[in-house]
Amino acid sequence: MGILHMTRAVYEAIRAHGEQTYPNECCGAFFGRSSPDGWQVQAAVRAGNTRTDSAHNRYQIAPAELVRIEREARRQGFAIAGFYHSHPDHPAQWSATDFAEAHWLGCSYVITAVAQGKATVTNSFLLAGATEEDKRFDHQIILVDGQPIAPDPT
Ligand SMILES: [Zn+2]
Repeated sequence: MGILHMTRAVYEAIRAHGEQTYPNECCGAFFGRSSPDGWQVQAAVRAGNTRTDSAHNRYQIAPAELVRIEREARRQGFAIAGFYHSHPDHPAQWSATDFAEAHWLGCSYVITAVAQGKATVTNSFLLAGATEEDKRFDHQIILVDGQPIAPDPT
């Protein structure tokens, strides 16, 4: 399963990002290091949402931007620990599209629900499995400064 560790600053930053882009989705990536119990996120990096056809319920990081983000992570001595995006006026649960477009096995996919412009629930899903064929999303505990965040009421 694994735990997603992040600082309060990172947690607040990704939630604020979702509020700022409302009613469209925000998206970005996490820089971090793996540890025995999961990812230690060091920073959240904002990315442009390149989906102009349906930016309110789809997100995508452009391939070139992803390459640049990954290179920057490595330059700073980190790995890509995962990705985050927001769900404007939808629950913080992954969609079929989120699952289909998730390819980074072992990475965390964090979703924040933004209701009427206000960030509510933030959930993390670990993309588990050994191959693209047997991948799955496992619900993952988020610890902010070592403390569990409020459980998902849904
Ligand atoms: Zn989504």
